Amino acid sequence: MSLARQRLVRNASRSVSGGLPVVQSRRGGFKAVSSPVEIDPNVAPSGDGCAECLAGEDPGWWLHLRRCAACGHVGCCDDSPAQHATAHHRKTGHPVLQSFEPGEDWFYDFRTGEFFEGPALLAPDSHPLDQPVPGPSGKVPRDWQRRLH
Ligand SMILES: [Zn+2]
Ligand SMILES: [Zn+2]
Repeated sequence: MSLARQRLVRNASRSVSGGLPVVQSRRGGFKAVSSPVEIDPNVAPSGDGCAECLAGEDPGWWLHLRRCAACGHVGCCDDSPAQHATAHHRKTGHPVLQSFEPGEDWFYDFRTGEFFEGPALLAPDSHPLDQPVPGPSGKVPRDWQRRLH
């Protein structure tokens, strides 16, 4: 571990003990989170599918969907090619997501890497039942299993 990295880790632990939320990204960096709202049960999901994939970002399909518990952003999971849910977390600092899959109500905290149970969020709590997995209909390549992240 490099000196700079050790310093980062020390600073991060200090922030945690000081009550400041800290995010550890998958690339190993740390940053403080300023958003006071981690879970807002009154915000509707942004749509039926991943916001960025539906907006035309390549490749435009996903395996599973995740919903940001702070702002309602719906993004694709880390097995999906574009991993827009994690990208949203990195961009905004919003630390908690909930599964947007039918029958799943678990929450996930990026800061701790832990799954937990939380409050009911504003409906709908999943994508439509007739939306295929992977989805969306018509955008999924035949060899999608080879293209998972
Ligand atoms: Zn996506
Ligand atoms: Zn968000």
